[in-house]
Amino acid sequence: MNFKSKLPNVRTTIFTIMSSLAKEHNALNLSQGFPDFKSDPVLIELVSQAMKNGHNQYAPMMGVIELRTAIAQKFKELYQSSYSPEKEIVITVGATQAIFTVISAFIHTNDEVIIFTPAYDCYQPSVELQGGKVIPIQLQYPKNTIDWSLVEKSITSKTKMIIINSPQNPSGSIFSLSDMKRLEKITNNTDIIILSDEVYEHMIFDGKKHQSICLFPELKKRSFITASFGKTFHNTGWRVGYCCGPENLMREFIKVHQFNVYSVNHPVQIALAKYLEEPKHYNLLPEFFQNKRDFFLTAIATSNFSFKPTEATYFQTLDYSSISNERDVDFAKRLIIEAGIASIPMSVFNKNQQDNKTLRFCFAKTDETLLKAAKILNKL
Ligand code: PMP
Ligand code: GLN
Repeated sequence: MNFKSKLPNVRTTIFTIMSSLAKEHNALNLSQGFPDFKSDPVLIELVSQAMKNGHNQYAPMMGVIELRTAIAQKFKELYQSSYSPEKEIVITVGATQAIFTVISAFIHTNDEVIIFTPAYDCYQPSVELQGGKVIPIQLQYPKNTIDWSLVEKSITSKTKMIIINSPQNPSGSIFSLSDMKRLEKITNNTDIIILSDEVYEHMIFDGKKHQSICLFPELKKRSFITASFGKTFHNTGWRVGYCCGPENLMREFIKVHQFNVYSVNHPVQIALAKYLEEPKHYNLLPEFFQNKRDFFLTAIATSNFSFKPTEATYFQTLDYSSISNERDVDFAKRLIIEAGIASIPMSVFNKNQQDNKTLRFCFAKTDETLLKAAKILNKL
């Protein structure tokens, strides 16, 4: 049968490849970003109650209003920023659908979208499916700084969107206040939409502050925020997240959303609305994950890997150049098969597959898993 692939160069995602290989070889899986500990039994009980109470049919198209109100309240509390629950917040099937829907709603053939690499893997294919073109800007290794003059030079009349992701997966770096000010300055008086993927907003360490795009009024009026309850509340399998933005942009978002998914898991939304009533459920997350990071890094302190403690996210990158000079993809596969531990090679996210001999490890794991991982890593 003859057909023309819309994504001829896309292969299976690295997360699926590494997780499947880990399973096949019974290796410890620190590759794909998901927790191996149980989520809060209180939240599980709330979902169960919502099902028993009959919330099992289609949820409203934009999401359950109680949940949208709770999200608006969280924005007020954390950033003193307001979004209308009725018009500016939509519940989505994880951040992945939110990102896809924003891109589908605004990117036309030949539009250009600037992304910062290493970049999360769903941005590029989503842009290309719409006939758009990704312009990657590589963060400067190893400090992950941004060359803003290069960003400025990369903006053309075709630039329709800039995707930012702070805290950033996979590097664990964050945009500083001055990065945000530069972004504001160079996009001021343009119609460039900013897609700010903030799924790791609650995982930021050492007292650093998350610079949400909603804190910058000039940016906020042209920006979408995407977020993930899977990441925030340790339930990546529930597939619930949200998107928010100014009303005029959300109107276009909703046009696509209603035919893309229509609506999202109903009982989980009811439960999350209740759970969000307690701000401690998200306010305690930075400390919780910082403790995990520190536990993991203390356990591998004497290993032959070199590293700088990650600033944010639940990923730590480790430089293995004093252990091997193999390509990172080959080394990562060998670690699964021969050493029994899975990670993600960073080059797959980089512009031109730049290989800095670094691997990404997810530390959203029990202490027991982290100790087992350290035992393996310390022997290399
Ligand atoms: N953006 C980034 C940066 C991610 O790491 C992920 C994976 N959690 C997503 C978006 C997708 O989130 P979700 O699982 O809620 O679809
Ligand atoms: N966000 C997860 C990660 O970075 C993966 C999610 C996925 O597999 N799509 O590991």
